[in-house]
Amino acid sequence: MSEPENNHASHFIRDIIEEDVRAGKHDGEVVTRFPPEPNGFLHIGHAKAISLDFGVAADFGGRCHLRFDDTNPDKESLEFVEGIKRDVRWLGFDWGEHEYYASDYFENLHDFAVALIRSGKAYVCDLRVEEFKQYRGVPTRPGKESPSRDRPADENEELFRSMRAGEFEDGAFVLRARIDMASPNLHMRDPALYRIKRSTHYRTADTWCIYPTYDFAHCVSDAIEGVTHSLCTLEFEVHRPVYDWILEQLGFENPPRQIEFAPLNLNYTALSKRLYEPLIQAGAVSGWDDPRMPTLAALRRRGYSAESIRALCAEVGVTKFESTTDVGLLEHHLRQDLNPRAPRVMGVLRPLKVVLTNYPEGEGEALDAINNPEDPDAGSRKVPFSRELYIERDDFHEDPPKKFFRLAPGREVRLRYAYFITCDEALKDADGNIVELRCHYDPETKGGDSADGRKVKATLHWVSAPHALKTEIRLYERLFADENPLGDKDRDLSEALNPDSLEVVTGYVEPSVASAETGSLYQFERLGYFCVDSEDSTPERMVFNRTITLRDTWAKATVERTAMAEFSVK
Ligand code: ATP
Ligand code: MG
Repeated sequence: MSEPENNHASHFIRDIIEEDVRAGKHDGEVVTRFPPEPNGFLHIGHAKAISLDFGVAADFGGRCHLRFDDTNPDKESLEFVEGIKRDVRWLGFDWGEHEYYASDYFENLHDFAVALIRSGKAYVCDLRVEEFKQYRGVPTRPGKESPSRDRPADENEELFRSMRAGEFEDGAFVLRARIDMASPNLHMRDPALYRIKRSTHYRTADTWCIYPTYDFAHCVSDAIEGVTHSLCTLEFEVHRPVYDWILEQLGFENPPRQIEFAPLNLNYTALSKRLYEPLIQAGAVSGWDDPRMPTLAALRRRGYSAESIRALCAEVGVTKFESTTDVGLLEHHLRQDLNPRAPRVMGVLRPLKVVLTNYPEGEGEALDAINNPEDPDAGSRKVPFSRELYIERDDFHEDPPKKFFRLAPGREVRLRYAYFITCDEALKDADGNIVELRCHYDPETKGGDSADGRKVKATLHWVSAPHALKTEIRLYERLFADENPLGDKDRDLSEALNPDSLEVVTGYVEPSVASAETGSLYQFERLGYFCVDSEDSTPERMVFNRTITLRDTWAKATVERTAMAEFSVK
């Protein structure tokens, strides 16, 4: 697998690692890890973490582990493990043989917990969840010590053994680190290390009825694997003292170093795995890979390229400051990536029939069309032309407003790669809807040029009605109407949904796409980029997803901003 090229910019994490390597820490080795919990599919925010974790490891000649942080059995599954592996690979990264599972360390983690108990650094606490929180208190005042805090070590060890043996009900006891109930950081106030939970784990089944918490499992797993730099998002900053404390108590000599960076946030997008399941349950989307979702599986199905996602990650960079990126920037990178390589074809989304009254009935011809004007090597293809065509309904106006230059009664336009046509009459049904245009063509304009230098103001795309493929075309808009769908944290995401995020039309596409494999991506001239849906498309009935329209609001905004900047300098 080729190494993605676009994540090598310098940033504060690279500087720290460089310094550590220079100072000979960890014998100059660099080992990172990407640690997803297999409780859902990866989203585009994870792409930032993946690019960073794998990117810096590669830059320093080190390695990056893929570690499943599977310590919370309720929502985890093998399906999600497989999905995550597929997505990381698709993004362009390779963990080689370094595939690990926190659940493989359950026995070690247990033994490390016992070591903490024996050294008086952990105790079994009988406070229930509510009391636990009450005793912990608020940051501005010291918390209250648990009555169990000074239980002798051998009693703690015996209780912990009973916890593991399943002698207590769920929630009856927790194992806690004995740190500092007066710390202003609530996470340092004797955090939980193990809970009793009867839940079948997708890998260890019912072997365990106690499970380690994130705080305990994460740092110890990093240390067991010899991770040198443990990169994570800012919300873990407050956990770092716990991370360091645990590893110090356990006597790890060369402990990994946790470094936090700002997560990727995108407007009109909600980036958190746990929020997606309810949307799927409610039927707001068809599944994890519904092309409107921000998951990597959905973006891939929609036609997004891994290159464009990596380019976005490279552009947003790595900092400590949380900010929100305009989703238009992602779309911009996608268009930049697709434009030079997507073959052009013609397709009509909302067909209006055109009959060329002077074109001989029953005849036809094959016209030359250029495959990609951006790529001289892409060549050309033949497109069938005949007496009956479809054009886009929007491209005709019976009573054209001032700036409408496309087809209208009495007006001449060019059909791309074909002929000039003039509209003579619009036929209507009983309700007054236009159902067909009667036009004539000028045989002297073959290929789209007039011999006499006559000009037209518009060029339309079209397909030949008897030859075109009838297809289902799914037109996607943003899933959320709200720029900040998460709003305040407790909000129900379904309230922020865009009711018009999907429109399904029956369109017609030129027959050259008939044998396209699923996932193939095209530019439909004048309309946007479309890909053959990987789930629902069949040779009998092709289904296209609109990946993205052509209009690049970001590029336009950039031009405007630049123009403004120039203006203000003058
Ligand atoms: P959940 O909401 O279910 O906790 P998550 O989206 O936070 O899911 P995790 O499995 O907890 O996903 O995250 C795995 C790794 O990806 C962590 O190291 C985390 O820091 C990183 N990560 C998660 N979200 C983002 C994001 N938006 N930007 C960059 N990195 C992220
Ligand atoms: Mg998380």
